Amino acid sequence: MANSKEIPYKIYLEESEMPKQWYNLRADMKNKPAPLLNPGTMKPMTAEELGQVFCKELVDQELDDTTPYIDIPQEIQDFYKMYRPSPLVRAYCLEKKLGTPAKIYYKFEGNNTSGSHKLNSAIAQAYYAKKQGLKGVTTETGAGQWGTALSMACAYLDLDCQVYMVKCSYEQKPFRREVMRTYGASVTPSPSDTTEIGRKILKEHPGTSGSLGCAISEAVEKATHQEGYRYVLGSVLNQVLLHQTVIGLETKTALDKYGIVPDMIIGCAGGGSNLGGLISPFMGEKLRGERDYQIIAVEPASCPSFTRGKFAYDFCDTGMVTPLQKMYTLGSNFIPSANHAGGLRYHGMSAVLSQLYHDGLMEARAVEQTSVFAAAEEFARVEGILPAPESAHAIKVAIDEAKKCKETGEEKTIVFGLTGTGYFDMYAYESFNDGKMTDYIPTDEDLEAGFAGLPNVPEDMM
Ligand SMILES: *Cc1c(COP(=O)(O)O)cnc(C)c1O
Repeated sequence: MANSKEIPYKIYLEESEMPKQWYNLRADMKNKPAPLLNPGTMKPMTAEELGQVFCKELVDQELDDTTPYIDIPQEIQDFYKMYRPSPLVRAYCLEKKLGTPAKIYYKFEGNNTSGSHKLNSAIAQAYYAKKQGLKGVTTETGAGQWGTALSMACAYLDLDCQVYMVKCSYEQKPFRREVMRTYGASVTPSPSDTTEIGRKILKEHPGTSGSLGCAISEAVEKATHQEGYRYVLGSVLNQVLLHQTVIGLETKTALDKYGIVPDMIIGCAGGGSNLGGLISPFMGEKLRGERDYQIIAVEPASCPSFTRGKFAYDFCDTGMVTPLQKMYTLGSNFIPSANHAGGLRYHGMSAVLSQLYHDGLMEARAVEQTSVFAAAEEFARVEGILPAPESAHAIKVAIDEAKKCKETGEEKTIVFGLTGTGYFDMYAYESFNDGKMTDYIPTDEDLEAGFAGLPNVPEDMM
């Protein structure tokens, strides 16, 4: 019997067992995510309008709410084989340390040079840009993982890659920047004087350390003002979530091989792409009424989009140049407190996950950063991997849940996403190790300021 097999520390798949199609969860959603709106007309964005900013095939994927499976082009499958399948690890050592009867598994996406899951979508987006005959792409990066992943993908496909990097990260993470340049990307600290919106933001907020929303505005402007360029985004969009389903599909195949059925699936949520990708096949079963799972999104208490945000139409960027998306949001001008070191700083959330959360199909928890770094270190010391602070949000809640099982004696099976490694986050670890890290939870007044900036959208579009 499959489930009497001894479970190895690492469950690897054969190359032949890797997914050949991405799974489009939207096809199984009864309540589809709301359409993107044109902020000028308040009408749904057409493929033609989106095509001015994004590559054509990616626009088709963005708007496709009905096709359940989408073929992964062979060239992308081949690229995936360089660093996938990623291992599904049984955290035997952590279980022992915690003395829990829970069975803990994590899907580790940090085994590539970019250090995170972001390469799964970067290669897909670069591939479609190349196929369309473009010269290059522009993007933003916060902590730097997305910019690194995209520069790797662009180098492979011989595309120009222009990255706007949030200024504080640009200064705090010079090595990240240098990795991108090593792969041939050009990196500009944002806000910059290379775009109109950047100059405007600099004038209004001199000395600002930048934000993701602001870098997005600059990258979009740069793409639309250069012949042969399009903009690409590393999270939030439906297409990104689609590409990231390779995480969940591999996880499901690996679990099925051993007859393992998880009770609980946990992931960190910034813009929602890794979590969306991890849970998609499981959520699909849940939506089709085949099986039930407890699904938990974990976010920073200092940037609590799900747990304290509003479900409303909002801009995806600070400069208000992007389409409006209906999502859980803190307002496009929300910037997390400067002492926040753990990533996941985006003000909004994937439209797909927002709808699922709104419909009660998943839960969310907000955790404070000192508890996240404590969990990161506990994990690193027994499982060996130095986690990215983002990933450590999921670790924190997985450990909490495993400790609850110790109290109740329940042998729950917990699966969580370990999205990446933290080698470039050592200033944050240093601040934690020195006891200097503090927690900041925004007050209701802080949040009201963000909500006040939400655009007015006609009732019938809400
Ligand atoms: C970007 C990133 C995240 C958060 O982004 P999502 O789109 O929410 O997945 C989480 N972990 C790591 C390591 C990242 O680089």
